[in-house]
Amino acid sequence: MAMTNEEILEVFRQTEGVLKGHFLLTSGRHSDTYMQCAKLFVDPQKSEMLCRELAGILKEFKADVVVSPAVGGIIMGYEVARQLKVKNFFAERVDGKMTLRRGFALEKGSKVIVVEDVVTTGGSVKEVIQLVKDAGCEVVAAASIVDRSNGKVDFSVPFKALLSMEVISYEADECPICKQGVPIYKPGSRNLK
Ligand SMILES: [Zn+2]
Repeated sequence: MAMTNEEILEVFRQTEGVLKGHFLLTSGRHSDTYMQCAKLFVDPQKSEMLCRELAGILKEFKADVVVSPAVGGIIMGYEVARQLKVKNFFAERVDGKMTLRRGFALEKGSKVIVVEDVVTTGGSVKEVIQLVKDAGCEVVAAASIVDRSNGKVDFSVPFKALLSMEVISYEADECPICKQGVPIYKPGSRNLK
């Protein structure tokens, strides 16, 4: 039985993965909500449960490899690949450009699923998709645990997310939370305190 959106959201709440406050998103917009997938991965049982759910959806694509952008996608990439019984690579930035290092080499013609924990604008996923194509491989799907674009992001390949949600965000100069004088917090791997 597939989990419902509400059941998945409840798992997030249990892991304190839904933050409320004043956040600067990667896109530069401000929001009162932030989905912190890193908090989900603190609990391996819950991570396994959600990644199993996602892997079940991704089985039909018959991929050979899962590739994820570092840092956010690494843990779930591993777990989704483990569930699908396929290989798992992660891409990382070298001088700002997504690259496969550490001896990770995609075999030409491989079928690849690109996974990321949270998608908002999908920038990193798009870069990894390009990297995979440049390696002569086929991207059969993209996937994430959370789709904050609520289905608006377009990767030109099938995109599957466990939890689709519309998170309200504002242009910085129109942000009502700024107007209340609430200090802003930038979550994410680089500035995580
Ligand atoms: Zn603001």
